[in-house]
Amino acid sequence: MKLATVSVQGRARTGMVNAKGITLTRDEDMLSLIRRVSGSGTSTEAEGETVPLDQVTILAPIPRPARNVFCVGKNYHEHAHEFATSGFDATAKEVVPEAPVIFTKPPSAVIGPDQPIPSHLDPTNSVDYEGELTVVIGRGGRGIAKADALQHVFGYTIINDVTARTLQHKHRQWFIGKGFDGFCPMGPVIVTADEVPDPRALRLRTFVNGEKRQDASVADLIFDISSLIETLSAGMTLEPGDLIATGTPVGVGLGFKPPRFLKAGDRVRIEVDGIGALENPVE
Ligand code: MG
Repeated sequence: MKLATVSVQGRARTGMVNAKGITLTRDEDMLSLIRRVSGSGTSTEAEGETVPLDQVTILAPIPRPARNVFCVGKNYHEHAHEFATSGFDATAKEVVPEAPVIFTKPPSAVIGPDQPIPSHLDPTNSVDYEGELTVVIGRGGRGIAKADALQHVFGYTIINDVTARTLQHKHRQWFIGKGFDGFCPMGPVIVTADEVPDPRALRLRTFVNGEKRQDASVADLIFDISSLIETLSAGMTLEPGDLIATGTPVGVGLGFKPPRFLKAGDRVRIEVDGIGALENPVE
């Protein structure tokens, strides 16, 4: 099942995407739906009217997450090498991390498909893209064992972990340069976990102005989704609707010599098999 949040005549609605368009749910937002379904096991069946997709605007599936988006740095082997040798990594001593590198993006950074990425907010002109498969937590919990972790996944979406590289380096952290308004495009839908029996089988591709930059199998993750859930939940309760951006593969702009950062007028498109494409203009 593909779930989306859409704007219908200026009002945000939640629904199920199907061949005819989007069938709207009763009056509840995506976070409420995830909490209800994950808490009671009740159906996600939509029961309202069906609206053609050309009559709605697709928003981020969770337009305003309840708390920060959890993110994982350097979680694909080739990207870890690309980043370590780029000169932009001020934090690490080793190329491949021994444990997951975790940071967060604030809820205020989230934008939806087709909304512009405001690269002009970065005075250092070093805005980069990072296509990432993103986990949506269903049933929450603390101390979730790796073996049980996928049972806590509600579904999957796509995030572009947009990053101002010079600020990431200058401030020796991964928050300021990644937390700007509009630096967390998300969508277009959440695909429920029952349609993704093995997330490792997914493939992610990123295009800038139609040129393929990233093309990787999720199986190449250094720390897999179960490990990330185990790590994050070890001392902190995960909650329904929490998001975990699992990291980006090789092919980001900083990996080129010289780096190829985003500029106004560019378009970034991230595709993940079975989820769809998240595309945003840059302004
Ligand atoms: Mg990232």
